[in-house]
Amino acid sequence: MKLSELLQKDTLTLSFEVFPPKTDSAFDSVKQATEEIAALHPAFMSVTYGAGGGTSRYTLDIAKNIKDTYNVPTLAHLTCVSSTRETVMQKIEEMKAAGIENVMALRGDLTPELEQSDRSKWAYRHAVDLIHDIKESGADFCIGGACYPEIHPESADQKEDIRYLKEKVDAGCEFLTTQMVFDNNLLYNFLYKIREAGITVPVMPGIMPITNAKQVERAIKLSGSFMPQRFKSLVDKFGSNPDAMKQAGIIYATDQIIDLFANGVKNVHVYSMNKPDVAAKILDNLSSILN
Ligand code: FAD
Repeated sequence: MKLSELLQKDTLTLSFEVFPPKTDSAFDSVKQATEEIAALHPAFMSVTYGAGGGTSRYTLDIAKNIKDTYNVPTLAHLTCVSSTRETVMQKIEEMKAAGIENVMALRGDLTPELEQSDRSKWAYRHAVDLIHDIKESGADFCIGGACYPEIHPESADQKEDIRYLKEKVDAGCEFLTTQMVFDNNLLYNFLYKIREAGITVPVMPGIMPITNAKQVERAIKLSGSFMPQRFKSLVDKFGSNPDAMKQAGIIYATDQIIDLFANGVKNVHVYSMNKPDVAAKILDNLSSILN
């Protein structure tokens, strides 16, 4: 199913993100974790591409397995920054052959090596270039893109960031998923600004359940997201007790999701980090709300 169709419906949805294995030997355990999440029948599942050290070649295998075995719609991520046009075209063909209908078109993060290299030689400089190529390839994908309520770190300011976001949407992005947000007010402010800028496609807030204290540091480093004092206090109090931290983190994420639904957001994407127990608990917490 195309996500454009799913996101048009007047129902509240929850979807989960998983990432491919970082090593070949981890494939079976990651496959099993993603299957356990798929068995919960979320609205859809996204599979990242090479993010956080995950190997890009398994993105399709994991996405296809979820779709074919569990009939859960999938969104396969694709990055372009270090790719040639030939590689991207080959990936597009592989996605078509695997029956993938939804693609998240991303630039990818700049490694220190890429930062040093000559950008004029890059085949792709921004996600919008990838969107153009997907469209030109004739592939009938529903295309999604990333957005940043707290501004992408490379942008001079929010106005510039939103201007380039509009270019992505005008190029063919049919929905957007946000960087993880821990303070919903930042998200409401962002939604207001992008609607004012004429961006009307569905926007899915990305919610990351923080279930251990170490994850906090990693999440901030990765996303630069603002941690509200309310959340910091929770980590201070429960961070040294793994079970308590996990419970508190899941409740914090659930509370954020309920607030989003209560304020008119219909679709929320959860960065479930290959953790079926966390995904199950959040779904259980929302069992009457999502029906
Ligand atoms: P872009 O849209 O290209 O934006 C990057 C920067 O360039 C921004 O500052 C933007 O304002 C600016 N910009 C955009 N267009 C132009 C233009 N035409 N001219 C000048 N400046 C421009 N990374 C992975 O490696 N794998 C993943 O699977 C993955 N999944 C993600 C999912 C989500 C929901 C999010 C939010 C991020 C994800 N990332 C992933 C990280 C992402 O690759 C990085 O955040 C990356 O730095 C930017 O990617 P982008 O697609 O947003 O880039």
